[in-house]
Amino acid sequence: MSYDALVIAAHADDAETQMGGTLAKLSDGGQRILLVDLTDGEPTEFAVPGVRAKQALEAARILGVERCNLGLRDRLLQDTPETRLELARLMRVHRPRWVYTTGEACVHPDHAATVSLTRAAVFLARLGQWDRVPGAEALADQEPWIVERLFFPHCKMEPPWSDFAFAVDVSAAYERKRQALAAYTSIFAPTEQDHLLALYRAEDQFYGRLLGVRYAEIFRSAAPLVVADPTVFLPAPQG
Ligand SMILES: [Zn+2]
Repeated sequence: MSYDALVIAAHADDAETQMGGTLAKLSDGGQRILLVDLTDGEPTEFAVPGVRAKQALEAARILGVERCNLGLRDRLLQDTPETRLELARLMRVHRPRWVYTTGEACVHPDHAATVSLTRAAVFLARLGQWDRVPGAEALADQEPWIVERLFFPHCKMEPPWSDFAFAVDVSAAYERKRQALAAYTSIFAPTEQDHLLALYRAEDQFYGRLLGVRYAEIFRSAAPLVVADPTVFLPAPQG
């Protein structure tokens, strides 16, 4: 099965929080998206084991994306050779043009490990001759794959970014993002949910305000951006 984009995150709800509007927009545009959650996301504060996984599937349905979970240990996720190889294998099997993963230094150690793992896997996916690397022979079964772009959505556990590579106008898709996040009652208590979702919304609104739209999600890029058509940019309030 091939996908246009892989989104690699530590926990179910990370991708929705960071780029749920962009996911809905990509899906509406016919792009096939696979969310890869690395950990089982357990324990959750407000539900028994297994509830978060069901809610994750519901959130994916709302956004029009598919989802899988590697079942690694929440809170103790590590950058290991085995997980690097597993992610590189997924990239070679699904052949995404774009890979997204959590941006920057990361307060949460699972997020930091996710960034490190994904950067490594994008690099390893393009290499050949794995039959000559002891313990990594499984990668020899798939053709090398070169990811076109590696992008980093802003994580809302981090301070706001004043510099980012680009933003996506997610105004029209914003209700779907809200619904996808609201599915996670295992993570957000009903009272706290209102508070956190309000803060998330405020941040997306803040970037929208800066950029002249209602809601925006911001991204950094592993490599400088280049366009074939220099007329693609939306207007900005300050020019
Ligand atoms: Zn997370």
